[in-house]
Amino acid sequence: KASVMDGDNFDYEEMEDALEKSRAKSALEALQEERKKLPIYPYREELLQAVRDHQVLVIVGETGSGKTTQIPQYLHEAGYTKQGMIACTQPRRVAAMSVAARVSQEMGVKLGHEVGYSIRFEDCTSEKTILKYMTDGMLLREFLGEPDLASYSVVMVDEAHERTLSTDILFGLVKDISRFRPDLKLLISSATLDAEKFSDYFDSAPIFKIPGRRYPVEINFTKAPEADYLDAAIVTSLQIHVTQPPGDILVFLTGQEEIETAEEILKHRTRGLGTKIAELIICPIYANLPTELQAKIFEPTPEGARKVVLATNIAETSLTIDGIKYVIDPGFCKMKSYNPRTGMESLLVTPISKASAMQRAGRSGRTGPGKCFRLYTAYNFHNDLDDNTVPEIQRTNLANVVLTLKSLGIHDLLHFDFMDPPPAEALLKALELLFALSALNKLGELTKVGRRMAEFPVDPMLSKMIVASEKYKCSDEIISIAAMLSVGNSIFYRPKDKQVHADNARMNFHTGNVGDHIALLKVYNSWKETNYSTQWCYENYIQVRSMKRARDVRDQLAGLLERVEIELTSNSSDLDAIKKSITSGFFPHSARLQKNGSYRTVKHPQTVNIHPSSGLAQVLPRWVVYHELVLTTKEYMRQVTELKPEWLVEIAPHYYQLKDVEDAGSKKMPRGEGRAQ
Ligand code: ADP
Ligand code: MG
Repeated sequence: KASVMDGDNFDYEEMEDALEKSRAKSALEALQEERKKLPIYPYREELLQAVRDHQVLVIVGETGSGKTTQIPQYLHEAGYTKQGMIACTQPRRVAAMSVAARVSQEMGVKLGHEVGYSIRFEDCTSEKTILKYMTDGMLLREFLGEPDLASYSVVMVDEAHERTLSTDILFGLVKDISRFRPDLKLLISSATLDAEKFSDYFDSAPIFKIPGRRYPVEINFTKAPEADYLDAAIVTSLQIHVTQPPGDILVFLTGQEEIETAEEILKHRTRGLGTKIAELIICPIYANLPTELQAKIFEPTPEGARKVVLATNIAETSLTIDGIKYVIDPGFCKMKSYNPRTGMESLLVTPISKASAMQRAGRSGRTGPGKCFRLYTAYNFHNDLDDNTVPEIQRTNLANVVLTLKSLGIHDLLHFDFMDPPPAEALLKALELLFALSALNKLGELTKVGRRMAEFPVDPMLSKMIVASEKYKCSDEIISIAAMLSVGNSIFYRPKDKQVHADNARMNFHTGNVGDHIALLKVYNSWKETNYSTQWCYENYIQVRSMKRARDVRDQLAGLLERVEIELTSNSSDLDAIKKSITSGFFPHSARLQKNGSYRTVKHPQTVNIHPSSGLAQVLPRWVVYHELVLTTKEYMRQVTELKPEWLVEIAPHYYQLKDVEDAGSKKMPRGEGRAQ
């Protein structure tokens, strides 16, 4: 780098600084120009007037019109941040982060200063923050510390049409506080036209429509149903790339794994296309994509090349990627479903709704005429797809939300002001579970255990496991396990050409058939012993990124332990103590081995299996407790640990009786049968 040169009174550093500043300034000016081109811009004054005139406003506008990035800035420019922060909620983590990044650029400030975001386990805000983008779940948690949201002057519940569980609960809570906080402005914004419903719910709040610019979209269906939509999507992408005029492609897939597979195949096949074909830039985007790579989808496509974005539902309305001309819609998404009878929850690949299909198609006609390729038939569309997606509140486990509401002092859940009420059965099931976990007493009131559990931003079974670790004196180990579990299934990786090595490395942590939870603990502790070495991760086929995240989560859990006054104690030599802690939270997830090597859940008998990735998949202990169920070809238990059946009665005497856990198997099933030992 140049510095001040001898005999030269020219300060290069100063000059570079000045250059840098002027570059930043012109970038900022360019961004300001872009802001003015958004469909919402001509309505700025009218919108601000409507906010002045009404406490609650429903705002409707096409995706990409500028609702999320512009409205909070307009309100800030109009002075609303003088009285408090502006909160803008997003159903998805990635959207909160990416939008906050964009707005901080537009305002020329550092992300985390005036503009920040807050998502679970990651708070990127500071004392200075005035515009706060956050997940709906985080705003819900803020009610726990500040029931009147006094630090906010405006709450914008964005992407309201997504109707996530947290958004639906927020509706009830913000409606309530708006009554005794006349100074609080409430904006409900949505990308679709069911605005009437929002308006009705909020006592006939006025609807502000932002007219969108929309170009015609040509819709193509397949003639016959596709047997393999992933392959069809890849083939279609390549066909568009080779035969169609310039314009980027957006493909809707269901999840990270599918996106990674598609990415790999596309890379492989484009290599075979030769040099005459333009470059195809492949950009994946899904919830767990590392932040550095998220920005890539927004980079303009270089002249002569084409971009193909492989996205989950996140690109349906939460994120707008400019330049998309072609949309490929296989017609599926991953959706939670919940069986209130058994209390089992699973994530299933499910056909989308007609409303979703329209949104997806619309993504191609934002900047010019577009084309949408639906990988299903017109008959399918008209006859098989539901009109709208069922709100999450009607298809999910409510235990977490019920615990939060109880902590907020809301006892009468049946009469909570739900926009669409959850099934009574699901509410009951949630109360039952919280009672079983000792979070509620017989009268449905929050117990001390429940109060402590509510401090942790995790599901009740997990928070109970953490709180129970006090008794077993192993909180140090348990929060490591909880942190590793909450990172999901991205700890180990298994490159296609090194599967055997990767599997061997993984099995090292399973020595002694300790079970998956303790294996995760071993991974964490070994990494810690190497002083968090990246090299060690490479050698053991472990994702550094996931480990770092686990470390962050663990730090936060440690902080929360302190808050609920649980001492950090280590009891690493007593594996039974650790397993009992796990069982204290997860006893409703117990299963017993059957003769044929599958398992049967104890409470609501259902056949399940140990996931092949589990360290116990070949061991088949007689009794196990599992973290979660996933349905692929079969119903699989993921993250499994062996338990002793008498623990169930010891730990949850109100839930299990002796007859539930009597090892009937020892009579019917000769010892050792079904065990691969
Ligand atoms: P809406 O909320 O109405 O769907 P947005 O405010 O999200 O609209 O988007 C307005 C514009 O800002 C779009 O053109 C979009 O591409 C752009 N934009 C949003 N986020 C980013 C980002 N992270 N990087 C670059 N551009 C972005
Ligand atoms: Mg938006």
